[in-house]
Amino acid sequence: LVSMQVKQKRTVVNVGGVPIGGEACVLMAGPCSVESREQLMTVAHAIAAAGATMLRGGAYKPRTSPYEFQGLGTEALKLLREASEATGLPVVTEVMSTEDVDLVAEYADMLQVGARNMQNFSLLRRLAKCERPILLKRAPSATVKDWLLAAEYLLAGGNSQVVLCERGIRSYDPDMRNTFDLAAIALAKQLSHLPVVADPSHGTGRRDLVPIMARAAVAVGADGVIVEVHPCPEKALSDGPQSLTLPEFEKMVQLLGQPLRRH
Ligand code: PEP
Ligand code: MN
Repeated sequence: LVSMQVKQKRTVVNVGGVPIGGEACVLMAGPCSVESREQLMTVAHAIAAAGATMLRGGAYKPRTSPYEFQGLGTEALKLLREASEATGLPVVTEVMSTEDVDLVAEYADMLQVGARNMQNFSLLRRLAKCERPILLKRAPSATVKDWLLAAEYLLAGGNSQVVLCERGIRSYDPDMRNTFDLAAIALAKQLSHLPVVADPSHGTGRRDLVPIMARAAVAVGADGVIVEVHPCPEKALSDGPQSLTLPEFEKMVQLLGQPLRRH
């Protein structure tokens, strides 16, 4: 069902009025984790003014260590809804567990399957029955085929509103968190009719590389970019080193040009 050969027409996924996979690229931005009302509102208003089309923010955080910040949960979901109402930007946030699907779907416009859960088949089956569009991140060591077959679970189960997201794969260079796989973006677009967005924040782990890799992703055909932004990255509770400051985000938007056009 995900194959281009089967459908022969590109899918456009509508997220709260924002089309993904249409003419214009989408620009999703926001903090890695929702940390407080002030932090989220500051970021949401700044990115909206700079030209972002969607707000991201983590409420449930898949952290490598159980001792790291795990997210504000329901409180974060409420803050995301409030920020969405205040700015008009639809919200995408991660759901980690089948138990939370209904709750997250009540507050968010789009549900993210994190990289670590790409092959959580019970979660995928549950999300196939959910009314919301899904942002499906590529697992850190998944082939493009594995990734597309994970999407197939969603479509086969009844949810065709799926957007793929490349976020880097595990590699060996200690200077980068992951290897941002531009060719996988191009290949996924060739093999599938589903929209593909790019996450150069997790893809590189370094804020200095985010704007240029965002541009590269758009050049290879990405339907959008998702980046992490924080008012004060050095104080961030997660992913500070890869988060853009507000001025850096504005500069990135200028670098990308508006409206964003694919290659
Ligand atoms: C995130 O978007 O903050 C996140 C945890 O992403 P990933 O699942 O790609 O690591
Ligand atoms: Mn993050």
